[in-house]
Amino acid sequence: MHVLVLGAGQLARMMALAGAPLNIQISAFDVGSGNIVHPLTLHITGHGLNNAIKQADVITAEFEHIPHEILTVCEQSGKFLPSVEAIKAGGDRRLEKALLDEANAKNAQYFVINTREDLDAAITNIGLPMVLKSALGGYDGKGQWRLKEASQAELIWPEMEACIQATPTQAIVAEQFVPFDREVSLVGARAKDGSIAVYPLAENVHINGVLSLSTAIDDPALQEQALSMFASVAARLNYVGVLALEFFDVQGTLLVNEIAPRVHNSGHWTQQGAETCQFENHLRAVCGLPLGSTKLLRPTAMINILGEDNLPEAVMTIEGCHIHWYGKEKRAGRKMGHINVSADYNAQLQRTLCCLAEVLDATTYPALHHFVQALKPTL
Ligand code: ATP
Ligand code: MG
Repeated sequence: MHVLVLGAGQLARMMALAGAPLNIQISAFDVGSGNIVHPLTLHITGHGLNNAIKQADVITAEFEHIPHEILTVCEQSGKFLPSVEAIKAGGDRRLEKALLDEANAKNAQYFVINTREDLDAAITNIGLPMVLKSALGGYDGKGQWRLKEASQAELIWPEMEACIQATPTQAIVAEQFVPFDREVSLVGARAKDGSIAVYPLAENVHINGVLSLSTAIDDPALQEQALSMFASVAARLNYVGVLALEFFDVQGTLLVNEIAPRVHNSGHWTQQGAETCQFENHLRAVCGLPLGSTKLLRPTAMINILGEDNLPEAVMTIEGCHIHWYGKEKRAGRKMGHINVSADYNAQLQRTLCCLAEVLDATTYPALHHFVQALKPTL
């Protein structure tokens, strides 16, 4: 089986690693350059979308910000999964919000802004404070503004207007600020026959809009709410593949923040912590194979390595730590790799995270250090 992935980043790379034992070969299509590349070495193996499509049995995507012309050609080949509709919904907050409403998945109240008058109408309609997000092209908290008082509208409007004008069909989606207790996400897979397998929820800590730490959690009441919303969104899209839903937990009630129609950073822990990792399950789903068990094997956490291409060697000596580098060039804040930390039971996982915090600095790994600080009184 030969799967073409639109996008040549770490998610395509990890799909290739997970697919190899099943004899599933991966090629990556670098959307920017039009090159077909090997997902691990990034060596160019061919050129052009049509050639890439010809070689593939199945086409899928590792990100949602893909030019629509490329999506259309892929869809016409009849090989593309999950679906162009799902990818577009993940890449356009207007479509995403409409989808969530149609699927009866609770989410923060919103208002679409195209003009200065719309901004005032948004304030009247949804109240303050609010979060403003570009409809297209947002990731890792980029293209966002916070509005606490109406008087700030004058100050931020020029930036918002420039953002709207920079891209045709761009708009801003204003959203009620959600006073959440924590953020969680549900990653799961839906097969061609409509069967679903979801992983345990992950609790996610974001620093400056970027995921820093994810931990698999056991919370049956939240899991049930999340599964019900996952099932209805996935069914509405007739989805095939891995899908992630990010939620705000507000006093035990979940609101969907956003969806990701692909394997997701908050599911990387499954490489060590679950019976079948998210990358393998995505490939199984799009290749029409049965889904693998999503059972938790061991308590596991994931720490993102941001803007660093080096780790102290000591990390390799800590039992339960698994390093995953992405082979990318170092850039400030860039996702360069992650560390999965597994243990036999929760208290052991906490102790291992404490050991890790002793060798990783607090500036680069703030969420790990906050986590360890919060544990101190109980250890
Ligand atoms: P991603 O990399 O996950 O795609 P993104 O740029 O699409 O990120 P969001 O997930 O929408 O952005 O927002 C980034 C973070 O900002 C969230 O994880 C959350 O911490 C915060 N945030 C977003 N929307 C709200 C809201 N309505 N109320 C409160 N906080 C919010
Ligand atoms: Mg997000």
